[in-house]
Amino acid sequence: MPMPTISKHAETVVLHAGYRSDPTTNSVAVPIYQTTSYQFNDTGHAGRLFALQEMGNIYTRIMNPTQAVLEERVAALEGGVAALALSSGQAATLFSIQNIAHAGDNFVASTDLYGGTWNMFANTIGTMGIEARFVDPADPENFRRATDARTRCYYAETLPNPKLEVFPIAEVAKIGRSLGVPLIMDNTAVPVLCRPLDHGAAIVMHSTTKYIGGHGTSIGGILVDGGNFDWEKHADRFPMLNTPDPSYHGAIWTQAVKPLGPIAYIIKARVTLLRDIGAAMSPFNAFMFIQGLETLPLRMREHCANAAKVAAYLHKQPKVTKIIFPGVMSGEARRRADAYLRNGYGALVGFELQGGRDAGQRFINALKMHYHVANIGDTRSLAIHPASTTHSQLSPEDQLKTGVTDGYVRLAVGIEHIDDIIDDLDQAFAAA
Ligand code: PLP
Repeated sequence: MPMPTISKHAETVVLHAGYRSDPTTNSVAVPIYQTTSYQFNDTGHAGRLFALQEMGNIYTRIMNPTQAVLEERVAALEGGVAALALSSGQAATLFSIQNIAHAGDNFVASTDLYGGTWNMFANTIGTMGIEARFVDPADPENFRRATDARTRCYYAETLPNPKLEVFPIAEVAKIGRSLGVPLIMDNTAVPVLCRPLDHGAAIVMHSTTKYIGGHGTSIGGILVDGGNFDWEKHADRFPMLNTPDPSYHGAIWTQAVKPLGPIAYIIKARVTLLRDIGAAMSPFNAFMFIQGLETLPLRMREHCANAAKVAAYLHKQPKVTKIIFPGVMSGEARRRADAYLRNGYGALVGFELQGGRDAGQRFINALKMHYHVANIGDTRSLAIHPASTTHSQLSPEDQLKTGVTDGYVRLAVGIEHIDDIIDDLDQAFAAA
């Protein structure tokens, strides 16, 4: 694309990276290329595209110009080399692992994960013969202990809820790099505030459904390749990238795309997994995420400022027995929060009510402005009582392990005026 703006500032990157204007219409807004297919110039052109000798559009299940702008912007935002937009965060998570692991392989995952990811790892991915080994991230060395010759990656979330304890990214990335194991980070909860690739992670994923979209309209996911992991050096661990791939006329991914840069991982995910599984992001949703991305740094500032004020307000609430927010933590949890998050501690705030489950439910039912939803990352303030909803299928012991007590309430603080947020909480506390 002509005139991409080079900047290290997120505010600029989200507006300018990867697109200046439409080459045929001069449209300044990124057009929605609502097309399935792309006319080949001639058979030679078509052949070169399929052989990956030339990059270009073939079919929207595999690539699309609207998606491409989103991919370039998110890659630039995260400091990566390339990205792949997908139909949901769940698809991005599954692809991130399936791209390098098959039956008989394993990976090591943090126990602090979004429930849907945990379920996928504990159940569905096992049916594919891939073993998820869960370890407590409190001690980064747990990742080393769980690693063997068939370990293909580590997987964790930067700011996992409900515990909201920031993951030791550099510590685990370092262990992984010493063993030839890449770290994949789900950065959904803290875009802009953290760039896991800067701390040694190899791959970043987002559920774009959350803060990147920002307005609660569209489901999507994205994978970003850091281009910073030497797959060839660890060829024994990554046969899927270093031996001929029968599904793509024997391509060896680390060799096939070398002239295009260190993008073996992301290209393989696109032209094999996305080709075969078809979890493509629609061009319209890509457009929605581009709109969201434009104001992401601005919104994150407001989200974080409001969340910090909510946490301060909760301190004064007599019915609150505990506040769960990185900015009020101490010890190692606080050190990690300060080491990995910049300009705010995110916008997820948890608290425990002294009245337990009944009080938690009364509180939620009394909210007037906050939406009662399982989502996070909307412009609007959201609230949920995990013990009776998102975590209700877990045994009470397992609920406790994930950090959910009976009286736990999670807020995803929005960008309304802070006075209105606090007024709504105030009147709900009166009912709790
Ligand atoms: N990762 C995190 C941290 C999430 O919160 C979610 C969704 O709630 C996902 C991944 C899954 O994303 P999606 O709902 O877009 O499939």
